Amino acid sequence: MTGLDPGGARVCDGGVRLPAGLVAAALAMETVPGAACLADVEETPACLIQEHAPDTPHYGLVLDLDGILSGAVWAVWSPGGAPHLVVLPDCPGDGEQSCSGFAAHPGLHTSALWDLRQAHARAVFAAATHP
Ligand SMILES: [Zn+2]
Ligand SMILES: [Zn+2]
Repeated sequence: MTGLDPGGARVCDGGVRLPAGLVAAALAMETVPGAACLADVEETPACLIQEHAPDTPHYGLVLDLDGILSGAVWAVWSPGGAPHLVVLPDCPGDGEQSCSGFAAHPGLHTSALWDLRQAHARAVFAAATHP
């Protein structure tokens, strides 16, 4: 539509609310005692991966674990289903683009997806202010 969306890639952005038990469980996965508190746990994670088929699971970042190679806690849920938690290693990116995703995630790296989202937001704003 705007020419700013090569390949039509978008962030999925499906969301879920974690039950209190999972919030506590995520905090308990912190490997360094005292490194995280309840406020660090994302209770309503949004899916961070590229838009995917409706029958494949969503992945939302819940808690970044302290340490360089410790990975992060992710919520995984099927559309309409209850979430569960997994610890996944961090995506190394591709050398040019950093990534907030998990290793071997499907789709584009998050920095590429966010660039596209910002370009889309700018296009919407431009269209709204210059009809
Ligand atoms: Zn998703
Ligand atoms: Zn990545």
